[in-house]
Amino acid sequence: MRFQPITALRLSCFAAAFFTYTFAVAQEWKSGVEWNEPPVVTPGNENHQPPSDAIILFDGSSLEQWEGGKLWKIEDGVAIPQKAKIVSRQHFGDVQLHVEWSAPTEINGTGQGRGNSGIYLMGKYEVQVLDSYDNATYFDGQAGAIYKQTPPMVNAMRKPGEWNSYDILFTAPRFKTNGDVETPGFVTLMHNGVVVLNHFELFGPTSYTEAPHYVPHAEKGPLELQFHGDPVRFRNIWVRELTPPTGVRVRAPFNIQKPKKPAAQEEPVVDDTATEQPDTSDAGDQTDEKK
Ligand code: MG
Repeated sequence: MRFQPITALRLSCFAAAFFTYTFAVAQEWKSGVEWNEPPVVTPGNENHQPPSDAIILFDGSSLEQWEGGKLWKIEDGVAIPQKAKIVSRQHFGDVQLHVEWSAPTEINGTGQGRGNSGIYLMGKYEVQVLDSYDNATYFDGQAGAIYKQTPPMVNAMRKPGEWNSYDILFTAPRFKTNGDVETPGFVTLMHNGVVVLNHFELFGPTSYTEAPHYVPHAEKGPLELQFHGDPVRFRNIWVRELTPPTGVRVRAPFNIQKPKKPAAQEEPVVDDTATEQPDTSDAGDQTDEKK
């Protein structure tokens, strides 16, 4: 296809405008924040294995990290609920939590009476554990549900006797000094690597009898594993406390205006025209390569 002369002219003008904008205007943007270096964490050889900064809550040998742990049975490196719930001695706020569990190989009961346990975040917010493989029950009570608040988006359950993994990301709720909710809690859950809850906003603590509603509580709380009378099996439980990246704002966001024809003796010119509060500080790494 041949361009008409007028079309070619328009294209030329467009290209010229584009290159002028790209090389003369659109310069690298910087946030003006000096970030601290993120700590180095050595991951496990496989993703289900604990990273170097994980707190091991059950490695198959002992439940000494749990109050009531002696009540449960440990068999072949697997913990089996008996008599009562167990409660982590250490308390946590925002966490990444890994738990592996298996519904009993022998199927007994139906609905909520089949392979029922649960993971209570801060001792209050239950991520349901249930044998949900071909087992009808109310949907906000099946495996991967926040009990009586939301079903999982999909049912990623493995067969009874096979191992399931839960990878939970939990953001604890925050409360104002007057007891009002500042920010609610959130849960993201991967069941066998499948996202089943995506940043779900908790309505409040889990209750069987009451509508969930927040009651102010401490910044940290224990993890609990529920005893519901069923021989669910647990293994490989570890948790990481989550700390946001830290940094210091040293100036308002800015663009770096580089000279059109860089000369060895010339330094990059900082364009502060896009900033709200110009700052003459030289802080901020202006020479980073484009990432
Ligand atoms: Mg339960």
